[in-house]
Amino acid sequence: MLSQVVELIEAKHRFAITSHIRPDGDGLGSSLGLYWLLRALGKEAEVITHDPVPHSYQELPGAEEIRVTPNVDQQYDAVFVIECSDISRPGLVDLEKQFVVNIDHHATSALFGDINWIDATASAVGEMIYNLCKAIGVRVTREIAECVYTALVTDTGSFHYSNTTERTFKVASELVKAGVKPAKIAQNVFGSYAWSKLQLLSQVLATTQRDESGRVAWMRQSLQMQEQTGATEEDGDGFVNYPLTVAEVETVALLKETAPGVYRTSLRSKGDINVARIAERFGGGGHRNAAGCTLRGDWDEAERLIAGLLIEAVEKRHGEIDRTEDAAA
Ligand code: 5GP
Ligand code: MN
Repeated sequence: MLSQVVELIEAKHRFAITSHIRPDGDGLGSSLGLYWLLRALGKEAEVITHDPVPHSYQELPGAEEIRVTPNVDQQYDAVFVIECSDISRPGLVDLEKQFVVNIDHHATSALFGDINWIDATASAVGEMIYNLCKAIGVRVTREIAECVYTALVTDTGSFHYSNTTERTFKVASELVKAGVKPAKIAQNVFGSYAWSKLQLLSQVLATTQRDESGRVAWMRQSLQMQEQTGATEEDGDGFVNYPLTVAEVETVALLKETAPGVYRTSLRSKGDINVARIAERFGGGGHRNAAGCTLRGDWDEAERLIAGLLIEAVEKRHGEIDRTEDAAA
């Protein structure tokens, strides 16, 4: 709960903050927002992550101070774990030996912390960090504002997704008042790509297939494509969203080969189709409209399996819609 988090911060002094492996805008923006909040209170704080900061987030205030480490190698009064479904998601050895504060906006989060602050109504954890500033009486500085704004703009898909609420805009407005330049953040996050990313995109898009109904699309990214274009796996972030720009496409899978026979799979959907349910069947998770999991084995088979499940989900959903319309007629 928020009040427990406030009490803990007031009572203790030495903190670490972490987020999930392959951190994204909300993970990093919220971690750094909390870092600046703690610093403003005169506390000792550091952000530790398993993976380095992706290019898109290197301009975040404090990003250069993030320590990349495979394990929690010091004793802290508490470690804040930002937007993680379970204690293994940060990928940090010995994390469970610390006093853990779980901060998340996924309703599905396991309550793995010694304190759990979950707010499924928040569009991003960034929104929760903003609320924490208000609750604890820390002025929202430009640093905090830039970090929190980055969290909001990335987790809401530039305020396009259904998690965007009146409150999201209210918070965003306050952040702009505190000194955020939205165009500058957008340039850093969405307009600073490497040429190799564009080349990789053209190869990945060329693999796109769809089912007979045109509602389900899938595509792949191979290690060979990455080698050929000089791109990294991270360069593939965001590609999965492209097929959704087609009117009739309702759900997409992107299978990224991360090692021979291992595919990091991103799932996306529009509307009511819940791809988190499908990701969970393979030990993954996420939100209704954005989820992920890892598949293994033969590539064609993995693709057929996941496409089949998406087709089934879409058909089931359309069957429900048809029945509702028949009943109404
Ligand atoms: P992406 O496709 O961008 O990697 O992930 C989309 C969303 O799915 C993430 O924001 C995260 O919430 C969730 N997600 C992705 N991979 C995993 C996973 O392996 N486990 C869990 N629990 N969630 C995941
Ligand atoms: Mn998030």
